[in-house]
Amino acid sequence: MRCRLICLIMSSLLFAFNAHAVEVCGDLKQGEILLIKDGEKTSLLALRRDEKSPYRFGKIKFDVKQTKWDVQSIKGVSQSKVTPSKKDEAEIARERADVGKALTFKDNSRHDWQKGFILPVEGVISGHFGNQRIFNGVSKNPHTGTDIAAPEGTEVKASSSGKVLLAGGNYFYSGNMVILDHGDGLQTIYAHLKEAKVKAGDEVKQGDVIGTVGKTGRATGPHLHWGASLYNVRFRPHSLLDLNKKKCRSF
Ligand SMILES: [Zn+2]
Repeated sequence: MRCRLICLIMSSLLFAFNAHAVEVCGDLKQGEILLIKDGEKTSLLALRRDEKSPYRFGKIKFDVKQTKWDVQSIKGVSQSKVTPSKKDEAEIARERADVGKALTFKDNSRHDWQKGFILPVEGVISGHFGNQRIFNGVSKNPHTGTDIAAPEGTEVKASSSGKVLLAGGNYFYSGNMVILDHGDGLQTIYAHLKEAKVKAGDEVKQGDVIGTVGKTGRATGPHLHWGASLYNVRFRPHSLLDLNKKKCRSF
């Protein structure tokens, strides 16, 4: 009788404990995307390139592995792209405004990201996310995406289904670009395109051709700059590829 009562209390406590356990899935490392599973609800969390440790949200606290980012020296960049003229400043402002608008877009009614992501183009990685970059000897901002070198004209595919927020632009830094929205504040970015093959407002399916590899904007050779952003926090795009297979830890 006594055991029954104790067992009942124990199992209720265990149930109560489990009901509040939150799972955090992914590498607890700067620049990674994580899945947060809280009961039936799964949401996303992006750790910034310079995220401090420990990270806290709600009652959860975990250590964030700090990365020693490499320094990448890039030479042979057109000097006008390293030290912009007064006229270029207006162009840069237009680019910042358009990209900023796309990367702060929120549509919490779509959740395309839940079905996962694919590589937009096959090729050699020629620039890693997070690297501190030096153009023609001048120190510039860290790299916000991953560069994948591929021949000019290679088809670029939508990494996941979504809606086109921005297409083309012929921007100073990014050249022609496409930004796709995958819902819940998550966007993927495709820059330096020779040509965008979609237009703003289009709905695309994962694998659809959205543009071709080029070297428009600030680029020294044909490559795709692939980027990813969650509520305007840039993270390593390749961390999307195993989104639904990440290892989880309970908190
Ligand atoms: Zn890049």
